[in-house]
Amino acid sequence: MKHNYYNIHTHKKPQINNEVCIRNAYLTPIERFEPSYFLSTGIHPWHVMRISAKELMNRLEKNCKNKQVKAIGEIGLDKFATDYERQKSYFDMQINFAAQGHYPVILHQVKSVEGVGSVTKDFNEPIILHGFNGHISVWEQLNRKGKTYISIGSNCLNPSTKLLQTLKEIPINNLFLETDNAAVLVQTVYEKIASIRQIETSILMEEMAINFKSVFKTAI
Ligand SMILES: [Zn+2]
Repeated sequence: MKHNYYNIHTHKKPQINNEVCIRNAYLTPIERFEPSYFLSTGIHPWHVMRISAKELMNRLEKNCKNKQVKAIGEIGLDKFATDYERQKSYFDMQINFAAQGHYPVILHQVKSVEGVGSVTKDFNEPIILHGFNGHISVWEQLNRKGKTYISIGSNCLNPSTKLLQTLKEIPINNLFLETDNAAVLVQTVYEKIASIRQIETSILMEEMAINFKSVFKTAI
């Protein structure tokens, strides 16, 4: 059986043969991407001043007509970025959009657990906390519906004590892996996580395949 490396969040196209990725398209028109990989679309909290609410919704609707789009993201809240009120309002709009279309969301969260919790309290689709680098209690707080995942990237190569603890404790069916914009191959992230959890990389790949197919409703 051929195993794939599922990469839940990247800004690049696939870097190795058996990589299945969700590339972040921001709000770029989907036809500018090759049709051979999946995409997510949405406005990042850092970019909320660049676009009107109306234009945001137009672009989301247009992009989501394309079946390559499997998630809304990355979206979220970032206390260290400007215009927090606008971030909240755009995040709320995009969560509602995702709810209506039954899309999972890929979330950017910095020092905003409460804000994220309040905006997503009635959201019933999967939530993926991407670039997760924190204590497992952050995941527990946001996992009220049992459909919250964490996605781990290159931070795992040199993990803090709290991230290492999270990596050991997180249930495997709430885990995803990613490369984001790091200069690292997804394979390297898999090998490191497999060694931390003391399982074979091939088993980790099988588990990530199960999670991917169940969240993104794909055949591959
Ligand atoms: Zn990213």
